[in-house]
Formats: sequence, C-alpha cells, structure tokens
Amino acid sequence: MTSPKASRDPTLVLREVFGYGAFRGPQEAIVRHVVAGGSALVLMPTGGGKSLCYQVPALCRAGTAVVVSPLIALMQDQVEGLRQFGVRAAALNSAQSAEASQATWRALSEGALDLLYMSPERLIGGDLLERLAPGTIALFAIDEAHCVSQWGHDFRPEYLQLGQLVERFPDVPRLALTATADPRTREEILDRLDLRGGAVFTASFDRPNIRYMLRDKGEVKAQLLEFLASHRGEAGIVYARSRSRVESFARDLVAAGFDAVPYHAGLEAEQRARALDRFRRDSGVIVVATIAFGMGIDKPDVRFVAHVDLPKSLEAYYQETGRAGRDGLPAVAWMVHGAGDVPQLRRFIDDSSAGEEQKRIEHGKLESLIAFSEAAGCRRQVLLRHFGEELAEPCGNCDGCLEPRERLDLRVPAQKLLSTVYRTGQRFGAAHVVDVLLGGSGERIRQLGHDQLSVHGIGRELDRGQWRSLVRQLSALGYLEPVPGGKGGLQLGREALVRPLLRGEASLELPLPPPGREQRRAGERAHGGGGGTGGLQRSQAFSDVDVDEELVAALKGWRREQARQQGVPPYVVFHDRTLLELAARRPASLDDLAGIGGIGAAKLERYGASLLAVLRGEDG
Ligand code: ADP
Ligand code: ZN
Repeated sequence: MTSPKASRDPTLVLREVFGYGAFRGPQEAIVRHVVAGGSALVLMPTGGGKSLCYQVPALCRAGTAVVVSPLIALMQDQVEGLRQFGVRAAALNSAQSAEASQATWRALSEGALDLLYMSPERLIGGDLLERLAPGTIALFAIDEAHCVSQWGHDFRPEYLQLGQLVERFPDVPRLALTATADPRTREEILDRLDLRGGAVFTASFDRPNIRYMLRDKGEVKAQLLEFLASHRGEAGIVYARSRSRVESFARDLVAAGFDAVPYHAGLEAEQRARALDRFRRDSGVIVVATIAFGMGIDKPDVRFVAHVDLPKSLEAYYQETGRAGRDGLPAVAWMVHGAGDVPQLRRFIDDSSAGEEQKRIEHGKLESLIAFSEAAGCRRQVLLRHFGEELAEPCGNCDGCLEPRERLDLRVPAQKLLSTVYRTGQRFGAAHVVDVLLGGSGERIRQLGHDQLSVHGIGRELDRGQWRSLVRQLSALGYLEPVPGGKGGLQLGREALVRPLLRGEASLELPLPPPGREQRRAGERAHGGGGGTGGLQRSQAFSDVDVDEELVAALKGWRREQARQQGVPPYVVFHDRTLLELAARRPASLDDLAGIGGIGAAKLERYGASLLAVLRGEDG
C-alpha cells in the first residue's frame, strides 16, 4: 500500500484490494461514516459482512486500525486472510513468541501496518495504551461488542475497560460490531463503550440463504442420517444437548461413514483444538457438539446446522443456525422437535439455582421457542418478528412455505385426545395415551386395565405420528400441560378447563402431517443441486448458468493444494462463492479474472496464471 492512504476512495479500495464490485446493505454508509471520523455501533447478522466495515476504512484513513477481538484463533485467520489480499496486517496475542511480538511492534512504530488485531486484555493491560501514539491510530474496531454486556451470554469483564478508549483517544473513531440484536444488549453496548454520541447502523437480520427445516421428532438418529444422506461431503454442525448425546451421535455418524468428530467441554483441550482445526481446514467435517462449540466459528462454508435437541431459546437458535452459510450460499438449518423435550426443559429451568425473576424470563424464552416450532406458517416470519422485524411475504424457503400443511378441523380428534388423557388419570406421557387411542394391547395397557376404558381404540382415524403432532400442538395451545414434577406425564391444561372444546362448542383448525412414518419430503436438500462436487452447491446467483461440476471439483482440488502449501484453511485462499463464479464464467484472461468477486490485485498477481491454467483444463 504505497499510495497515500488518506486520499483513497472506499469503493476503489473495495474493488482493487478485495475484488468486490459493490458494498452490501449498510456497509457503504458505515464505511463513509467512519472514514469521515465518526463512531458507530453496527448490528449485522453473522455473515452480513461486518469485517469490511472496518477493514476498508483502515485502508482509507491514515495510521493503523486497531481491532479488538476476543478470540486468538480467529485473529490468526483474519490476519492470514488479509495478507492474501495484500493488506499489511498483524496480531498481538499471548500465543506468540517474544520475537514475533517485537517484529509487530517494530512494524507498528514504523507505520508499516494497516491493521493490528489484539485481545482486549492485551490492549488494556500493561503499557500498550501509552505506547500507541494518538496520531498514528486510524480507528478502533471492537468486534463481538456484545461481550461487554452482562445481560448476554458471552460476557467478558475485560471488555468493560474498553470504555477508557474514549478518554485517551477522543478523536479516534470507534466502531463496535455485533450480531446480537436484542435491544437490551444494544443499550448496554452504547453505554459501556460510550457510543451514545455515535450512529447506530442496523442491517436486516434475515438470512435468506438459510433454509429452515423443522421436523417432528421420531427416531432421531434415523431422521438425522436420512437428512445427512443428501449432505455427504459437506461441512456441518450437529447440536445435541448433553455430552453423552454428543458422543453417541458422533459414534453413529462415524459408523455410517461420515467424517464426524465430537466436541464438548468435557473433552481434553487438545482434543477440542484438534476437532476445531480439522473442521476449519478440511471441507467435509461434521462437528457433533454441545453449545460449548460456538462463538468464533467463522468458517464461511458450513452448509448445515442440525439440532437434534431443542436449543435453549429462540435467540440461541438464531445464533447457532447463523453459523451456517456465512458465505451467502444455500445452507440448511434442520431441527427435530417434539413435545417430549418441553417438560424436561421446563424442569431444567425450575430446578436451576436462578432467582424467581430469572426463571420467569427463561420460561418466557422457552415459550417463544415452542411457539416458533409449533407455528403453522412461515418460520422466517415468526423468527424475524421475534427480533422486531416484519417480513411482508412468506419466505418460500422454509418447511412452512415449502410443505404447506392443510388445516383441518381437528375438534373431534382433540376431544378424543383430551378425554383419553383425562380417563387414564392425567399422569401418562404422550406415548401411552396415543397407544390407548390406537387400541394397543401391550402388557402395560392390559395391566393398567386401559383396554377396558371407553376411549380404548377410539382414535384409529389418525396414525401415531399424527397423534403425536396433535399432542404437541395442543400443548403449545395450552390444552395440555406437563404434570408438575411428573416425568413427561400430561394433564389437562388451563385452556382445556376454561374453553368449551371438550363440550363440542368450538372448532379447532390445525395442520396435520401426512399419514405414514416420518417420510422423506421435498426440500431436505437446499436448492436441489448436484451431489458430485463434495458439497459445493450452485449459488442462487448463478442458477441460470450451467455449472460444470467437474471444473468446480478441479478448482477445489487446486485450492486445497494452495492451502496446504501455505498452511492456511482453504477458505482463506478463496471462498466457495469465488470458485463457483469462476466455473460459471470461465474467465480466459487476467483482465477477466479481475472481474470475479473476491479476486483483488494481490490475489490476481499471486494466483492468476495458475488459475487460468486450471480453467483451461491444465494442471495449474
Ligand atoms: P460477519 O463478520 O458479519 O459474520 P464477514 O465479514 O465474515 O461477516 O463476511 C461474510 C462474507 O461475506 C465473507 O465471505 C465476505 O468476504 C463476504 N462479503 C462481505 N461484504 C461483501 C461485499 N460487499 N461483496 C461481496 N462479498 C462480501
Ligand atoms: Zn417461509
């Protein structure tokens, strides 16, 4: 970067350095605001493009941009990625040798750094703030800014001290960035980082490339394997609630021939680091994890996130599923849910050591999650409404939209179900109640004398899966509720007691799954797409162009080799999106190559000739 920085135009930097044709969403307004010296809070979903909001200004303003980031592993990726673009970036962290930090210090004092990443404790502790001369800092970027919030779940005490920056460097712009949307966290960030005088930029929290697919819970392992069958060779995350479930699902996936690794807080640090490293470097690894696997997963090509247990809340669900498809290519958020999970989750809350107020909040969060999973229409509309955004039209990319369920008047079956719960004594779980309805004659039914009840066998018009769905929906509506402390038993809920459903005066329109066992349905795989390229799917943007799958595979092989030689993850070399665009457009000259998204001047010089060879069908 030899040209005088202060005079560089943001759009030119975006094009020449990063190889992108246009800013996305609010990026341009943010960049111009910061280049002009303004401070701001940026709220943008994962994958929305937060990094460029400070990386471009860093190249437009005089001096070095200091980026505060909580995760050392991520810093290194960011630095590698920037160097590939020809940007002078470095990191200061505790994982470094003394020589390495000295070299970084030297570069800093010589004004030879565009961006410097560091952890908050590094910035605030010691004499670092004194050593940073005010006139040499382009801006402060505070990534994962929600870590300053005690209300949120990623609170880091060191972040509180970042408020000092304004006293020491009143004229240096400060940009706080987060993907956490809720208003309370937002307010805390504004206060604690002293940003009340700055601007707030909000991008839509919609992630249109993520397809939300919810499934009624049946045989979870079989359901998961069936879902994964169409995602072989793709990178993904499977979230399970407990360590033992993580271990057991990971074993099953390995046995079924998937490249899966477990990840939870009970594993040795070394084993966890290895799992994370494999996930980042190889393209088709599945991590089966508890929520311990979370913040800082910035791998762009995660193609699916599967939940085999309900997450804690809709916020958690949004964060966890948000790790899919950061590159903007089609991705799937798949989840099984069943009424059986709900009593257990309620119990977790009741049995926790939290105060009454906190328990009320947690119960409220759980209710929102249940409402989402039981919603009959578009999932995305429910999800976004929860975050205060209205989506005018159904999204067309969720199970609710893709598999609309016909609504039927289920008043009579509902009455039968409630009667059966009542007549069996309001203490049995869904499985037993449904057995009675279907006229089961197992030993337990006979021992209890439930084959003698008038309700025995009165429900043969629906099958087991349909009855389970009705149980869930009636639970969501409050007609059924868990027996307090009753291990999954059901009793009549308040609605059943106050509403006349049992007396036959109300109608009840609800959707039902089709008869038959949990079947394969349309849309399990995101946007069709061929399976031959080990996970690369056709981008929506190029869907009218015939992508040459073999060429994509060749490009991917070439990328893997480049990454291996340099010891970096493949996506640091090029994102999938760039490879797909290359295969679709087949540029034949360096000039044409420069027009491909993600190929800036430095990458053109470094990889151009070799890429053209691959595109000509030579070995590269
Ligand atoms: P976030 O930090 O908000 O999760 P990133 O900054 O990692 O998101 O960006 C996500 C992806 O989008 C990256 O692959 C990035 O290169 C790409 N991206 C961001 N902005 C643009 C843009 N204006 N044009 C093209 N790609 C972009
Ligand atoms: Zn939808």
